Amino acid sequence: MRRLCGPLSDCLKRAGLLFLAVLLLGFAAPLTMRPSAHADILKAHDFLVAGDAVRTRIVMQLDDDASLNWFLLRSPHRLVVDLPQTSFAIAPADLKPRGLVTNVRYGKISDDHSRMIFAVNGPFTVDGISIVKNESSSGYRLVADIVASPEADFEAALAKQAGGAPKAAAATDEPVDMKPEAPGKPFTVVIDPGHGGIDGGAEGVSGTIEKNVTLAFGTELRDALEKVGKYKVFMTRDDDRFLPLDERVRIARQDDADLFISIHADTISVKGIRGATVYTVSDKASDAAAAAVASRENLSDDLAGVEITEANHDVADILVDLIRRETHSFSIRFARSLVGQLSNTIEMINHPHRFAGFRVLRAPDVPSVLIELGYLSNPKDEAELRDPKWRAKAVDSICKAISLFAAAKVRAGG
Ligand code: ZN
Repeated sequence: MRRLCGPLSDCLKRAGLLFLAVLLLGFAAPLTMRPSAHADILKAHDFLVAGDAVRTRIVMQLDDDASLNWFLLRSPHRLVVDLPQTSFAIAPADLKPRGLVTNVRYGKISDDHSRMIFAVNGPFTVDGISIVKNESSSGYRLVADIVASPEADFEAALAKQAGGAPKAAAATDEPVDMKPEAPGKPFTVVIDPGHGGIDGGAEGVSGTIEKNVTLAFGTELRDALEKVGKYKVFMTRDDDRFLPLDERVRIARQDDADLFISIHADTISVKGIRGATVYTVSDKASDAAAAAVASRENLSDDLAGVEITEANHDVADILVDLIRRETHSFSIRFARSLVGQLSNTIEMINHPHRFAGFRVLRAPDVPSVLIELGYLSNPKDEAELRDPKWRAKAVDSICKAISLFAAAKVRAGG
C-alpha cells in the first residue's frame, strides 16, 4: 500500500478494496480454505531402512503430523502401517531388502487412506512405532523399530491385536436374498477392472501394469455399453484404487446386476502362450493352468494386506443352493456366447472357456465371468492390450455377447 498510493482518494479506494477483499476472504475461508482432498494429502519422502538380522529401523519423513494405525499379518510375516492419504516420493533403490525387511509395498487403499506393507523375513515384534516431530528440521518422521522374535511372540501379538486392532476394510457378507425383478428394470452390467491402488496385478514384459490395462479396457467397455442406451452400467472402480475381492462381489449384488464381468490380463511362465480366456467359477478347476490363474488372482487381498476373514460362504439353505445353480448355468451360457463372439475378432487360447475357484466370481445371484484379455508376459499380447484399436474390437465383441444374453433374458421373462 505504501508506495502505490497516490492521492488520498485513491488510497482510500484501495484501502476500501483491500478491506472488502479481507472481509470476503474471511467469509469465504470456511468454504474455500477447507482442506480439499488434494490439499490434504500427506507427503512422504526420504524413506530409509537400516539394521541387521536382529533389529531393523524404518524411517520416513512426513511433511505433517498424522495419525497412524498398524497391525501384523502372518504367512508371510508382515507389518502393515495405515496412514491418511499420502503421496510417496520413494526412490526404488531405497526399497531394496535390508535388515529384517524383505519387501516394501505402498499405495492407496481407500479414498482417504494409504498403506505401507513391510514383509519381514521371519517372526518379529514391534519395539516401537510412531510419528515424531523433527528436532532440527521442519516436518515429522515415521519411525518403526522391529526386532526378530520367536514365533510364539509374534503369534501372541497377533492374538492380542485380534482383540481390538483396526480391521482393514473388512469384507462384508450380505445375506442372500433374491429380490423379485422389478418390471421394466433395465439390464444391468457391473464391470470390474481387476486390481488397483496398492495391488498393481501382473506386469508386462515392457512394463505395462495390469491394473492400468484393466481400468482402460473397463472404461471403454462401459462407454460402449452406455452408448447402446439400453443398459444400466456400473463399474466397481473407475480410478486407481484398491478394492477387496469381496467388496467387488458386494457392489455387483448391491447394484442388482444381471451380469458381472471382471477384467484381467495375467502373465504366464510358459513361453509362446497367448490369447484371451473366459473363466467361470467352479470349486474344481478345469485344468492346472486355470487353477494357477485363480490362485494368483485370489492373492489380491493378501498382497494389499487385507485380513481375509473366512466368511461363511456355505449358506446351508436349499433355496440359495438352487439360486446358485441357476446363476451358474447363466454364467456358463454367457461365457460360451462370449467365447463365440471374441474368437471372431481376437486371439484366444486353446479351450478358451475354463473354470476355477475365483473368489471374485462368487456372487450367488449374479451371473459372473472373468476375462483374461491376454498375457502381459507375451510381447504380442502386451502390444495389443496397449492398442486402443485392438481394445475397441474386443469391446465390440463383448457388447455383442451382452446384447444376445440380455435379449435371451428378456425373452425368458427374467
Ligand atoms: Zn489379474
